[in-house]
Amino acid sequence: MNSTDTKIKTAICIIGAGPAGATTSLFLSKMKIPHVIIDAAEFPRDKVCGDGLDLKVMRVLNNLEPGLVEREILNNENFTQSNSVCIHINEKKKAVLKYTPKLNESIFPFFFFSKRNYFDNFLVKKINPTYATFLQGTKAEKITWNGSESTIIAKNNNTQIEIQAQLLVGADGDHSVVLRSLGERQISRDNYAGGLRQYWKGISDMEDNHLEIYLPKSLPLAYLWIFPLPNGEANVGCGLQSTLIKKNHINLKDLLNDIITNDAVLKDRFKNAIPLETPQGWGLPLASLKRKIAGNGWLLTGDAGSLIYPTTGEGIGPAMMSGYIAAYFIKEAVAKNNFTEESFTNYEREIYKRLNDSIKIYRFLKNTSPILYNFFISYIATHPFCKYYFKKNVAKWIETAYTKKIDVAIS
Ligand SMILES: Cc1cc2nc3c(=O)[nH]c(=O)nc-3n(C[C@H](O)[C@H](O)[C@H](O)COP(=O)(O)OP(=O)(O)OC[C@H]3O[C@@H](n4cnc5c(N)ncnc54)[C@H](O)[C@@H]3O)c2cc1C
Repeated sequence: MNSTDTKIKTAICIIGAGPAGATTSLFLSKMKIPHVIIDAAEFPRDKVCGDGLDLKVMRVLNNLEPGLVEREILNNENFTQSNSVCIHINEKKKAVLKYTPKLNESIFPFFFFSKRNYFDNFLVKKINPTYATFLQGTKAEKITWNGSESTIIAKNNNTQIEIQAQLLVGADGDHSVVLRSLGERQISRDNYAGGLRQYWKGISDMEDNHLEIYLPKSLPLAYLWIFPLPNGEANVGCGLQSTLIKKNHINLKDLLNDIITNDAVLKDRFKNAIPLETPQGWGLPLASLKRKIAGNGWLLTGDAGSLIYPTTGEGIGPAMMSGYIAAYFIKEAVAKNNFTEESFTNYEREIYKRLNDSIKIYRFLKNTSPILYNFFISYIATHPFCKYYFKKNVAKWIETAYTKKIDVAIS
């Protein structure tokens, strides 16, 4: 083992500077709380994802700095916008849910898309050096615990860094070293999904900038997406719950290729399209696991805490929301100089109350048969009430995202 080149003592250390860790850091800085944040990667860096940014992402950003989305995202050429969801149920049946803002309604769209290579760097560039010591290219390799205090041994090139922290924030994604140090990294296949992403250029019929979802007939519980990106590119991918991948011996790459090549609707749209990469895979730790996300001297945020909406696979919004909520609990813990579990008793409640509806629906769907599931989705998505509900509520959801403070109840 190398001798340690640098030793750092800090009250708070965040491991990971993806959406969860960067957001935690941004709000801690806003609260003037010094901390250390490290990431194994040098930014900009890629992350396998659908690149879809929902209203929760925008709400957290707007809570960070009112007007930020309007100033820095709305007309930014690295983001595309969508006001419609297109669900392809089969070759003859699709449901288009469209929002057309009235004159007095918001200038903001329902959904944004941006490559994570850009978006995560956009967040990281906002990390404030006055309060945050940000070490990029610094990988946490080993964490040991002495009561509620942790010691992190990290590597930056050939330099070994030892960080002693009173509070460790695990924001290090699906392969979390913090979880491993707590003995909690086991995967529950029922609450985990596999996903693939492949960037393409030149897919036809992309003019409407739909958020497109395909439900393949051959595999009812899987779904494929096509999301519009700048410069005529698209994020294409598919995801499926891990129990089903194992049970049905599914190879996701074959599944994606098969749908693109043979699906009656899609094959013509991909005829002249060019793949920009081979399909890239990554896991989705779903919130239905209801993992313990706080303890003596530690908090988990984002994928490290398994906080992805199990019904949609969206994880960026919950990752940023958990970073925001974590910062409020940390502020209180700093004020009391108490980093034991006692300070974080209600952290779980504040996180899960925002995920519980999705968890309930997922648990219900998971136990239905694939045929019933197909019928259920097809019935709901194409029912006139669904269109009506979407139209009626989108303006309200957008307004909430851009005008309402996110409340966190500490006690
Ligand atoms: C195929 C696929 C499609 C998806 N599509 C969408 C979508 O369209 N919309 C959406 O909202 N969500 C989507 N998700 C989920 C989303 O990508 C994640 O939920 C989100 O990235 C979670 O953010 P995070 O900050 O928790 O983790 P990450 O984004 O994974 O960031 C973790 C960070 O920790 C760093 N790190 C890891 N280990 C260490 C270590 N040992 N030391 C130091 N640093 C470390 C990594 O370098 C990384 O920067 C998708 C996921 C997949 C797999």
